[in-house]
Amino acid sequence: MLKPADYRSDVEPTWCAGCGDFGVLAAITRAFAELGLEPHRVVSVSGIGCSSRLPLFLKNYSIHTLHGRAIPVAIGVKLARPDLTVIVETGDGDLFSIGAGHNPHAARRNVDITVLCMDNQVYGLTKNQVSPTSREWLYGSLTPYGSIDRPLNPIATMLAFGATFVAQTYAGNLQHMTYVIKEAIKHRGFSFVNIISPCPTFNRVDTFQYYKGKVKDINQLGHDPSSYEAALRVAFHDLDHYYDPEAPVPIGIFYRVQMETYEERMAKVKARYGGLEDLQEIIDACKP
Ligand code: SF4
Ligand code: MG
Repeated sequence: MLKPADYRSDVEPTWCAGCGDFGVLAAITRAFAELGLEPHRVVSVSGIGCSSRLPLFLKNYSIHTLHGRAIPVAIGVKLARPDLTVIVETGDGDLFSIGAGHNPHAARRNVDITVLCMDNQVYGLTKNQVSPTSREWLYGSLTPYGSIDRPLNPIATMLAFGATFVAQTYAGNLQHMTYVIKEAIKHRGFSFVNIISPCPTFNRVDTFQYYKGKVKDINQLGHDPSSYEAALRVAFHDLDHYYDPEAPVPIGIFYRVQMETYEERMAKVKARYGGLEDLQEIIDACKP
């Protein structure tokens, strides 16, 4: 049986000391070990950003793609090899700004991939610009007066797009992260996990110190993840702490439902028309 360390490559992370992404890397290797995944049967796909460097530090197969393009590449891998575990490791800027156009379609099609978003509410690699999840009035190198944009709600957004598994966890809680990542990988269908992963170098507001004592596990508080309405209700409280310093930050599994995956639907189409080779035969067979 493999141990978490067996899933690490020999490349040492170049993240700053104290970066939340170290914890995420530890949780991913723990989750892989506890699920007994074989490294050669896992594919990590990332875009660009501090968090998108994560696949370099793992031993499994990986593709470091263009900025915001991890999801379409991951879908291609999954459709070609449905037997593999496919994981996107991304960040708030990569996923919700540059690559945002891919999210609704991956979610509504229910492609069986797992998207892990390390959300530090800032662009770190390009040295401190506000991101889609930055709180209002956060200072950045291009917003010396503070951000005037309202933040995007990652949980509510992915629920609205039709994701069949939506969760949030926190880089300061290794046990919770490992549990949620395992559940997301086990889920058959599109799973999304927002991981609050502080950037101590550039975001001096949303720090480990800030989140300490604020994060609350909604499942322990009685939230039922099978209810879409309940999930939306809790999701709308996700950003309350930006406006009310006393408000808790919800973590846990917001929503989980089992539905037919995109690969299963593709397999049905192939089974129906796959034996035909002549184009006219295929067109005729597809006529209603
Ligand atoms: Fe982590 Fe921020 Fe440093 Fe990037 S800049 S490695 S997100 S601490
Ligand atoms: Mg970021």
